[in-house]
Amino acid sequence: AVVTRFAPSPTGFLHIGGARTALFNWLYARHTGGKFLLRIEDTDRKRSTEPAIAAILDGMRWLGLDWDGEEVYQFSRQARHVEVAQALLASGNAYRCYASSEELAALREEQRAAGKPIRYDGRWRDRDPSEAPEGASFVVRLKAPKEGATTIDDRVQGSVTVNNAEIDDFVLLRADGTPTYMLAVVVDDHDMGVTHVIRGDDHFNNAFRQLPIIRAMGWSEPVYAHVPLIHGADGAKLSKRHGALGVDAYRDEMGYLPEAVSNYLLRLGWGHGDEEIISRDRAIGLFDLSGIGRSPSRFDFKKLKNLNGHYMREAEDARLAKLARPFLGFEPDERQMALFERAVPFLKVRANDLIELADGAGFLFRSRPLELDESAAALLEGDARAILSRVHGALDAVENWDTETLETAVRNTAEGADVKLGKVAQPLRAALTGRKTSPGIFDVLVLLGREESLARIADQMA
Ligand code: GLU
Repeated sequence: AVVTRFAPSPTGFLHIGGARTALFNWLYARHTGGKFLLRIEDTDRKRSTEPAIAAILDGMRWLGLDWDGEEVYQFSRQARHVEVAQALLASGNAYRCYASSEELAALREEQRAAGKPIRYDGRWRDRDPSEAPEGASFVVRLKAPKEGATTIDDRVQGSVTVNNAEIDDFVLLRADGTPTYMLAVVVDDHDMGVTHVIRGDDHFNNAFRQLPIIRAMGWSEPVYAHVPLIHGADGAKLSKRHGALGVDAYRDEMGYLPEAVSNYLLRLGWGHGDEEIISRDRAIGLFDLSGIGRSPSRFDFKKLKNLNGHYMREAEDARLAKLARPFLGFEPDERQMALFERAVPFLKVRANDLIELADGAGFLFRSRPLELDESAAALLEGDARAILSRVHGALDAVENWDTETLETAVRNTAEGADVKLGKVAQPLRAALTGRKTSPGIFDVLVLLGREESLARIADQMA
């Protein structure tokens, strides 16, 4: 059965590229009925933090990427990593290197001066450890194959071959006895039963070093799929300006829905024909590694926002009201929340994110007399205020305060004054909302109710 994993280093938030890697792994596991595991790679003790771990778990939960079993913390498995290094030493697949750091620095300098690639030259590969100076410290290096070539049949990158001469005897255990990332990843993936390694293609080079460890241990090799990184809209490497933010920013600062972010991330590097809107269930049904594109995708805020608008219109009103609540700009009481929720169906048709939704609701909560913005004030010039008086009279006489009755009353006012409906509706909107745009004017009247509506109109009458 398929086992995938997401293996973030908790040195920062769950950024958008990491979230996509997690999503692809999750989808592939769910698609195949396999397992999706989470491993927190917290071996860099200085840079790994608790808040970063919390942000990663939180971001994954927000996106609905549940992992199977308990998450694994890499640092807690150090003894096991060391054990494997010892096994490699014992089988002759690794060796102790006593080269001092000065010596290695000199080697690098020499190589640089000669214009040669910088790499360890294997000087302790065939030397007897007894030649080492008393008490000298050592690192453990892999005895990487020197002859031939290593080919990886990557599901995204295709078949790629690297000459083994290019792969140096890299370090497995540092002088202080701690395992390197290269070793830890391989051991953990093996022990966790990972069958498919799906990750960013910035790790593709690493795969050519990890594979020799796997082979030396006689373990089964995973399927690799190295996904091209996300670029900015201009094709440059993704930066903050381009959207390289934590997923929490998409939630807390931009007001996006998780299903929209998730759908967008899916389309960012994976495709099925030209389908743009793909529900979670459909994605599980369709996701395969062959649909991952080979060229870097470009992050496009406009597309994300459009998708978000689509999901807003599909979302339940009560949920939207709750999610948009923090963007209202004040602490609403129960009555205000109920009003907001009743307004959501009229607001969400013109909002593409929760901030716009909350902004659109602003008129509901403003206190009288309303402050009109410039464009609304302009709508009250000329004879508009006189028209407001007429419509006030007509509305005051309305018995059933419902959309249809209100519409009839407003239309009759326009006819009676021999003006187009807009001549009445526009000043009315200005008086009721203080803005030039709002939900339909009859819906606004219903939402505000008789008393508040009449009072707001009266405030602006001639
Ligand atoms: N911890 C690595 C990272 O965050 C990922 C390792 C892997 O996926 O193999 O970049």
